[in-house]
Amino acid sequence: MSAASQPKIPFNRTFLVGTEAEYMQRAMQQGPLSGDGPFTSQASSLLTKIVGASAALLTTSCTHALDLTAILLELGPGDEVILPSFTFCSTANAYALRGAVPVFVDCRPDTLNIDERLIEAAVTERTKAIVVVHYAGVACDMDVIMAIAARHGLAVIEDNAHGLGGKYRGRALGSIGGMATQSFHETKNIQCGEGGALLFNDPTHLERAEIIREKGTNRTQFFRGMVDKYRWIDIGSSFLPSDLLAAFLTAQLEAFDDIQARRHAVWAAYDQRLADWADAQSIVRPHVPDWCEHPAHLYYLLLPDLQNRQQLMQHLSELGIYAPFHYQPLHNAPAGVQYGRTAADGCPVTDDVADRLIRLPLFAGLADEDLERVINGVLSYRVTR
Ligand SMILES: *Cc1c(COP(=O)(O)O)cnc(C)c1O
Repeated sequence: MSAASQPKIPFNRTFLVGTEAEYMQRAMQQGPLSGDGPFTSQASSLLTKIVGASAALLTTSCTHALDLTAILLELGPGDEVILPSFTFCSTANAYALRGAVPVFVDCRPDTLNIDERLIEAAVTERTKAIVVVHYAGVACDMDVIMAIAARHGLAVIEDNAHGLGGKYRGRALGSIGGMATQSFHETKNIQCGEGGALLFNDPTHLERAEIIREKGTNRTQFFRGMVDKYRWIDIGSSFLPSDLLAAFLTAQLEAFDDIQARRHAVWAAYDQRLADWADAQSIVRPHVPDWCEHPAHLYYLLLPDLQNRQQLMQHLSELGIYAPFHYQPLHNAPAGVQYGRTAADGCPVTDDVADRLIRLPLFAGLADEDLERVINGVLSYRVTR
């Protein structure tokens, strides 16, 4: 069969665990379908158990969970928030939206995480928080980052969109900063189409978060019987998902171990089978420090240069395999320049790796024969100099 007649292999495909439809049906029968119904509490408690956080509030997205952190920390004009340039724009948007300034810090060349050695130099009197992203679910060096935050009285937020199931020195990612955010977008390990959560390790802001998430009302307290009527008592918006989505999410979270095992099998196959090919051509495979356990969120390769990255993408595309690049740096993006500030002399490592990185298809339902096709497709590429 020619490559053209073979079905295309996408980068990501929704993996259904089998109970989603049944749970959504049950949600429809039992109601209510608005937020904070029975499936929302089930999904929240499953999530709390996986991460070991003290509480979890489901949100409509990770973006909205990040927005909530900016409101809870009362960030606004005159404040600065330190974060990596190599991340999704939502990590920065949340703070720019409140008038605070995202301060972009370069990444480590090995893990592509915010370089903890550059953080302290970026701290000013205006700095209020550090937001970290565990890229590909490989942990940032949290002991160093938490110590810097403690010295300067800063909040730490983990944008844990990639990190569900990952660990740092035995501790679950998402359980280390005061607050952490999760994404259940369809490209993440556990998903419900669009969804997210805000996790609390330090419960200081929990009560206020429940109010802000419910349009600024104490409706949550009303339903618990703690107050006899609910009123508008704070600023807020609508950050809670329908119980229909929470039903889908519950099904996925219950199958967490199975989903993770399937993703790990794909990740490990790539890493083993591509090792010699990569090493012989100075192509870099993901670096997982021995103090990390990664959750098989992404499998990426760093090609020697932009030209080879583009050629490998093209080569795979001709074989019907979709392998995309990833983040375009934020520090020199139009909105990054307008709303943010770059620490030190730019982010040269971020600029460099963003040009050279390619991600291979990785999802729980990737068939063995498709995995073989991807591996053989990659192995048939030769770096040009
Ligand atoms: C996916 C992602 C987000 C946004 O998640 P949504 O749920 O789509 O809002 C934010 N940060 C990072 C690092 C992500 O990967």
